[in-house]
Amino acid sequence: MNDFNLKDKVAVITGGAGVICSVMAKSLAAHGVKTVILDLNKDAATKVALEIEKEYKTSSLGLSASVLDKSSLEAAKKEVHEKFGPIDILVNGAGGNSPSATTKVEKMEGSENPEDTFFGLQIEGFDKVFDLNFKGTIIPSMVFGPDMVKKKSGVIINISSMNSYRPLTKIAAYSAAKAAINNFTQWLAVHFSKTGVRVNAIAPGFLLTNQNRFLLVDEKTGESTPRGRKIISNTPMERYGTPGELTGTLLYLASDLSKFVTGIVIPVDGGFSAYSGV
Ligand code: NAD
Repeated sequence: MNDFNLKDKVAVITGGAGVICSVMAKSLAAHGVKTVILDLNKDAATKVALEIEKEYKTSSLGLSASVLDKSSLEAAKKEVHEKFGPIDILVNGAGGNSPSATTKVEKMEGSENPEDTFFGLQIEGFDKVFDLNFKGTIIPSMVFGPDMVKKKSGVIINISSMNSYRPLTKIAAYSAAKAAINNFTQWLAVHFSKTGVRVNAIAPGFLLTNQNRFLLVDEKTGESTPRGRKIISNTPMERYGTPGELTGTLLYLASDLSKFVTGIVIPVDGGFSAYSGV
């Protein structure tokens, strides 16, 4: 197989200006994919697209849209059709957690300030995290999926997390939203199974990025927090992963190498999900 057979495919990467998805977009571009960097942040999306064109000599387009706003996605699709044609690959990468859906204490004892526990979580925080991660995966799949069904070929790759298998302490909403993504990945894979469109997910282990830095690194000292240390000691490889380490799995799922693979979630986690901690 030559170069994964990805040359001149068109990929939309939501959250494409972010830490993980900008690297994913670059790894697709390195294999000749025309990339659409779709992000809330227009300037950051344009910057990534320019970097890609310069570095990989492959067309790239930075577009501003929200994964929660269908009309902005429809407008983006129109522009992609005009510039690149129909979409072959969708990476649903926009996602993240919110402090308002994060408890301060891990295990409640009953004597602490209720505000620091489950009882202090904001329903608005749950809405925000569920919307961004779960609906933010569903809506782009609705908007960009029809191109693939029409071509009888295409790939949707969702971004899950370790907390989708077993919830992590503190982040109730984010864990449940990522579990919903795994479930939806299976559901949509079955629903699309006769159309030629495959649907899979990647569950990254722990990477140090903007969305989790407030939990893993002490802002004042720059030292690892107790939670950060716990993550490292529960990751058999004893380190954080890097965005580049997700790209092998991405290329596998995006290409014909995984032609008979649909409805799975692949952990890329340095062994975290295999380790009991003992
Ligand atoms: P990031 O914050 O660097 O990137 C997220 C990007 O999404 C940002 O560029 C942001 O502007 C964009 N975005 C936010 N809301 C949007 C919206 N409504 N519409 C369009 N774009 C929007 O995050 P990251 O760490 O690179 O995470 C990328 C994905 O990987 C997320 O789904 C995250 O949940 C998942 N993930 C991250 C880790 C980790 O350790 N960082 C681990 C597992 C899974």
